[in-house]
Amino acid sequence: MAGKDLLAVSANTKIGSVNKPVVLSTWSFGKEANAGAWETLGKGGRALDAVEKGVMVAEADPKNHSVGYSGLPDRDGRVTLDACIMDENFNCGSVMFLEHIVHPISVARMVMEKTPHIQMAGQGALAFALANGFEKKNLLTPEAEKIWRDWLKTADYAPQVNIEEKLFEISKDPLPGGPDNHDTIGMIALDASGNLSGACTTSGLAYKRHGRVGDSPIIGAGLYVDNEVGAATATGVGEEVIRIAGAHLIVELMRQGASPEAACKQAIERIVRIRPEKAKQIQVAFLALNKKGEYGAYCLRQGFSYAVRTGSEETIYKAKSVY
Ligand code: ASP
Repeated sequence: MAGKDLLAVSANTKIGSVNKPVVLSTWSFGKEANAGAWETLGKGGRALDAVEKGVMVAEADPKNHSVGYSGLPDRDGRVTLDACIMDENFNCGSVMFLEHIVHPISVARMVMEKTPHIQMAGQGALAFALANGFEKKNLLTPEAEKIWRDWLKTADYAPQVNIEEKLFEISKDPLPGGPDNHDTIGMIALDASGNLSGACTTSGLAYKRHGRVGDSPIIGAGLYVDNEVGAATATGVGEEVIRIAGAHLIVELMRQGASPEAACKQAIERIVRIRPEKAKQIQVAFLALNKKGEYGAYCLRQGFSYAVRTGSEETIYKAKSVY
């Protein structure tokens, strides 16, 4: 970390003892994404622009097999993407089950800004993107295709109940620093003006059923922002996040006075309470930020890390867990 911008920003952080600007992202690869966001935030730019730019770093990264380009495909070998974005004025946009577009987050933003809608899916979302200047690209890289073909050798291709969870459990078993130890990028930020925004983007669970949509493009599940209170985002088995409207729940808990970490913990504990057996086998993690720039996280199982960038720190933290 270097540069004049950081000094200017450090001065901002002292105003009213609010820690701003600040940007947080899920998983350790969020560090590079945060750096992308900081190019905007560090200059006093808007959180919305920062989170879009930030997650685009992960979407374009060919080494990242769980977000955007080179994401692992569904069981049919198709890369289908989910993303959403939300600003400080309850404006939000989302795309789901979208193929062939490297930056679904930017399509989500365009849905937010150029249509009266919030969510667009599949072929309709693709047609909208292409009509608005996005390019069609094959997202299945040779490396991701090889991983999928190796999976096909042993996987039972026939639809099975719960296969997604089994695969998730195997491939995401905590291996700190290991190649599988990352998935959806959820990013939340507070800018120098004190405004919050968030973005969330993913290729979803590897080898999911064709057409499956997770929590990540669902406003209130994978992401929620309330500029009076705070913002939250999620990663892990999306079905369990949707069931409790995870990100919205956390923001409401913060509204009632919970710290970001306590709010994430309570949401995780709710998953444990309503799905005690499943909760032992899967990963779900939440990340939250409040209006004062305080942040925290909590997860089901050890192995979830998150990246933080402020004017004075660039850190990867390990979240506390139930198991
Ligand atoms: N939450 C994502 C989904 O369920 C997956 C993940 O975070 O890895 O699609």
